[in-house]
Amino acid sequence: MSDRLWDFAETAYNEHESVELQIRELEKNGFRVTRNAAGIPTAFIAEAGSEGPIIGFLGEYDALPQLSQEDGKTARAQKVMGGNGHGCGHNILGGAALLSAFAVKDWLLSTGRSGRVRYYGCPAEEGGAGKVFMARGGTFNDLDAALTWHPASILAIDAMSTLATIHARFTFSGVAAHAAAAPHLGRSALDAVTLMSVAANYLREHIPSDARLHYAIHDTGGIAPNVVQAKAEVVYQLRAPDLGVVLSIMERLRKIAEGAAMMSGTSMAYRVEKAMSNMRPSTVLSELMYGRMQALGPTPFDDEDRAFAKRMKAAISPEEAKASLEIFGAQRLSGVLHEGVLPAEVMPSILSASTDVGDVSWVVPTARCLGACFALGTPFHSWQLVAQGKASIAHKGMVHTAKIMAATAAALFVDPKTLDRAKEEFRQQSAVGAYKCPIPDDVAPPVIKPAPRPQGTLRGAFPTQYAGANP
Ligand SMILES: [Zn+2]
Repeated sequence: MSDRLWDFAETAYNEHESVELQIRELEKNGFRVTRNAAGIPTAFIAEAGSEGPIIGFLGEYDALPQLSQEDGKTARAQKVMGGNGHGCGHNILGGAALLSAFAVKDWLLSTGRSGRVRYYGCPAEEGGAGKVFMARGGTFNDLDAALTWHPASILAIDAMSTLATIHARFTFSGVAAHAAAAPHLGRSALDAVTLMSVAANYLREHIPSDARLHYAIHDTGGIAPNVVQAKAEVVYQLRAPDLGVVLSIMERLRKIAEGAAMMSGTSMAYRVEKAMSNMRPSTVLSELMYGRMQALGPTPFDDEDRAFAKRMKAAISPEEAKASLEIFGAQRLSGVLHEGVLPAEVMPSILSASTDVGDVSWVVPTARCLGACFALGTPFHSWQLVAQGKASIAHKGMVHTAKIMAATAAALFVDPKTLDRAKEEFRQQSAVGAYKCPIPDDVAPPVIKPAPRPQGTLRGAFPTQYAGANP
């Protein structure tokens, strides 16, 4: 199934074939499926078992645009010109979460235990904040624990926090005019964006040093300098380890935008488009999962895997490999594959990135890990990662991590005291601040157009020499 998801390579909110395939398999195996979770067409919940606690596995299956790559090739070779590719390994991510759910369902049945297992079909992790919209819709509210993972080049427990983030669009409207004949009649929206940019640069000095302020101008108002630009648009993304800090900086930025509108004589519309909370991992669940990981030991790679990984690693620059390991504190590792378990103490407390799993962790005790699926140091969102998505190393990493997650769930069913401790820890964390979805209620999931499919289909192996031809 993971290989088929790799073939589909559907991007955020367009994962229709990926969802149908998974639902078919889940229903065939006795799962009860609820489609359209939180009103999102490519989100769903599958459940098996009865009574008792509910343990959920979070699956993702969205790909990235422009990363189409031939499977197994050690040089850049697009499978579909300009097509999508699984550059973050979410085909394996969904595959392992699904496998864990199947294993726990069978185990519950064979042992006659009461308990329910869920597979959450979570769309649009890449740029779509899928789980945040699902959390806002109450999808995770009755869950007792959530377990998930991310494919990587190392096997490690991931108890890191992440950066909270918010994206907001600022649209300025002014008055168009001939820039030479009647400049006094023009009110430039582009001036407003420029003034906002100047002030935002001053703001940067007065925000916490671990906060980040990114921006992209989406509309400059036109290409002609001799027309006063009547409309211009800029999107700002803020990040910080704490959501409260992000929201307070956004409030200051909104005032800056109001000031820019006043100065330029334009009007401004402000709209939050998406946001993600910082990850608040469950220490109790992470320790349990780490214990299962240590008990199961390293991923069982063989000589063929090592030879493949060696070829793949030769296609990755040492700088890229080092940088992609550094974010996890794993830069000391050497070799072509990670054949151990990374000691939890080497990992940093915070990852310099954002994920929509963060919001799940504010609703239910959540634990994550990383599975060794790629040549050591393979960067995320790269063609090199796409090229390894169907390889034996990816399959082994996926199955191995599924075992770790399933064993963690089984331990929670066997010993409800651990689950109670996780819930107690969660209650204490929540006493500090209850979850409030950072995306306003009237904001719908973004409509993200799929990348062009020049071949008409992405299914199966399609020889490159036919690229452009309609099959
Ligand atoms: Zn990812």
